[in-house]
Amino acid sequence: MRVTREALLAVAIVAVATIASVSLRDSLAPTNLAMIYLGGVVAVAMRCSRWISVTASFLSVAAFDFFCVPPYLTFAVSDYQYIFTFAGMLVVALVISTQTARLRDHAVHAAQREARTEALYRLSSKLAGETRVFEAARAAATLAEDVFGARVVIFLPEDGKLSFRRRTSDLLPVPPSEEPIAQWVFDHGHKAGLRTDAHSDAAALYIPLRGARETFGVLAVLPDVVANVVSHVGNRIFAPEQQQLLEVFASQTAVAIERTLSQRAEEETRVHMQTEQMRSSLLSAMSHDLRTPLASITGAASTLRSQNDRLPLETKQELLESISDEADRLSRLVGNLLDMTRFESGGVELRRDLYPLEEIVGTVLQRMEPQLEGRTVTTELAENLPMVFVDDVLLGQVLWNLLENAAKYTPPGTPLELAAFESEGAILIEVRDRGPGIAPGEEERIFEKFYRGQSKTMSEKVRGAGLGLPICRAIVQAHRGTIQALARDGGGTTFRISLPLESR
Ligand code: ADP
Repeated sequence: MRVTREALLAVAIVAVATIASVSLRDSLAPTNLAMIYLGGVVAVAMRCSRWISVTASFLSVAAFDFFCVPPYLTFAVSDYQYIFTFAGMLVVALVISTQTARLRDHAVHAAQREARTEALYRLSSKLAGETRVFEAARAAATLAEDVFGARVVIFLPEDGKLSFRRRTSDLLPVPPSEEPIAQWVFDHGHKAGLRTDAHSDAAALYIPLRGARETFGVLAVLPDVVANVVSHVGNRIFAPEQQQLLEVFASQTAVAIERTLSQRAEEETRVHMQTEQMRSSLLSAMSHDLRTPLASITGAASTLRSQNDRLPLETKQELLESISDEADRLSRLVGNLLDMTRFESGGVELRRDLYPLEEIVGTVLQRMEPQLEGRTVTTELAENLPMVFVDDVLLGQVLWNLLENAAKYTPPGTPLELAAFESEGAILIEVRDRGPGIAPGEEERIFEKFYRGQSKTMSEKVRGAGLGLPICRAIVQAHRGTIQALARDGGGTTFRISLPLESR
């Protein structure tokens, strides 16, 4: 098709040179007319393939002889000196046509190299950000369609076998009967199908996505052009250089998939290690914090059972109270553990709404009356405080945990403060105490799971699992806020929550 077009173009150019020469042959010497033909040969060589321009060179010499060298309209020549003109003209025409064709080939190769580099660059930058195998395969297939101007689909394995169901396109552009060919390509790591030695009658060309250690899938290429695809390389998808590029494309995709998988494996190992670490901390916390109240409960219960008749009423009452207190503690601990797990697995959904902060603070203080008995709790809520867009139950839990800690870790009777004010687009809520404070260097560590303050005598006496503050932080962060522990001038601790001012 292209050859016919080029041949017609060459004939047309020689014809135009002939018309021009004939109209000028009375005013110009024949040797000058030869220049017009040489111009034509240059024009042909710039647009057509090498052998067409060589043919045009011969045709030009023949036309020059026939139309421009007397006697006209015959190949006979009156003056044999023209033989030299013909020979010179032919040599020059042939040199022009071969050199021009060579230059053009160079240019075409350079353009192909550039297109290839660009295509591979686009591929690697597209795949660089992908963290999931399927998404990486889909991105590669879409880009391949664009670059090669062909229909491309990638098949991935399922349970170790290649599956036509796990593919990057909703449509299945190849006949299902070709699944065994794709499977063969997957198993052997060699291409097959259209225009190859194996199954050359297939609808598509199948190329394996071969990584360093294994094959990750199969890329199928169908020669039909996708509508509206602007292709950089053209759609001569089965030209050798295109095939080569396709194979590089496939292996780059495989490398990207391999990287994605190894990243995932690393991540899994990390999570596994973290889980292991957490499990051991959990076990040690459990063994202490669950066993102590359980031992008290069991002890009290068995005393009550065995000596029920002999015990004075008062002692019975005390034992029952201790059972109830310890059971409460156990229930809180288990609750905290469950909360933490829910937060970590992302299973907590915030039910946010606009609330006046006084309402949340009021509810918490009222519910905490028993724990705060004998303390003065001063609340300083700034006037005209905007409503807060929060999950009221969860924010209430944060305040509860902080106030409970303040009550636990400070000497009985010392005052507590709860303040809230607006500052630089955020609402700051502070819970302050006048206790022994956090040991320097522990301000961040106390927010770690299962971490308990070491240096203060208070935390030795007080029981806990080191989960209260991590839960506070998880809740506050879920609200896009921050929480930190600050030392107070004159002794004591301030826990400061900063919540960004948000509307619903
Ligand atoms: P728990 O109270 O179960 O130990 P938390 O996560 O609530 O766990 O607290 C972690 C540690 O932070 C506590 O063990 C304690 O040492 C320290 N801490 C928390 N609040 C205060 C406070 N108001 N004053 C002094 N230390 C505190």
